[in-house]
Amino acid sequence: MWKIVDGRKVIDPHSVEKLWEEMKVGRVQNTITPDEKGAVNAPPSTPYLTVVMISDTHCELDKMIEQNLIPYGDVLIHAGDITSYGDAENLTKFNEELGKLPHPHKIVIAGNHELGFDPNEDQSLRWDVKDIGKGTPEGWKLLTNCTFLNDSSTVIDGVTFYGSSWHPLSGFPFYQPRDQLKQKWEGIPNNTDVLITHSPPIGHLDLFPTVERWGCRYLLEKVEAVRPALHVFGHTHPCYGSVRNEQTIFVNAASQKVSLDGLKAIGFNRPLIAYIPKKI
Ligand SMILES: [Zn+2]
Repeated sequence: MWKIVDGRKVIDPHSVEKLWEEMKVGRVQNTITPDEKGAVNAPPSTPYLTVVMISDTHCELDKMIEQNLIPYGDVLIHAGDITSYGDAENLTKFNEELGKLPHPHKIVIAGNHELGFDPNEDQSLRWDVKDIGKGTPEGWKLLTNCTFLNDSSTVIDGVTFYGSSWHPLSGFPFYQPRDQLKQKWEGIPNNTDVLITHSPPIGHLDLFPTVERWGCRYLLEKVEAVRPALHVFGHTHPCYGSVRNEQTIFVNAASQKVSLDGLKAIGFNRPLIAYIPKKI
């Protein structure tokens, strides 16, 4: 998976370590320690939705269900990378597994590993040439047991959830050059309460595995402008966890735990939970 660029072993030749060093000055970021249930905030005194967050299950949702790892909640969010290659067999398997879960609302977005889901992808640029031709065009049609979001919203009890899969890691579906991501995030509505992206924002749980910053500056700037209560993402598995600024709780929900080099699956991270006030 590594590439050698300018004598350096990298996954993302366009990662933005230096940019964050400049941007972090004056920005607040506090680490959240989840409670014994995995909750990243306290339930409000008014009616609320219990939101359970998973991501990056890479064909292994069945194992998480077998191990009884997924807590009940009103809404289950999956922030992308449900498969590794977007093949129809594993999409169908995921959909069946999703159907077994009791959550009344299930929201799913695609990740960079959902090959075939991005109709405008230039497959000749795929990270691994062996992946050219792999995937399922319009594969989301197989996901009948959830609400699939792709630059779109859904509203539950007055709470607006918006999902988007764009990211700056070249060679995969939903890749956009960093300078073009700004216009993609312009679609995020100002009334978004829960933002779901596959990519992290810059500087927020976005290191892969420990040195490359894969996050997007324009996504952070949009989140700072829109101020959703919650921003859920995945993608950078080693940075599973939660941080917050004054307005927004950020959750990297990556479920598949990985080895120190970021590339080998070694079990699962516990799903995290957030309580979001209803707006009805
Ligand atoms: Zn992943």
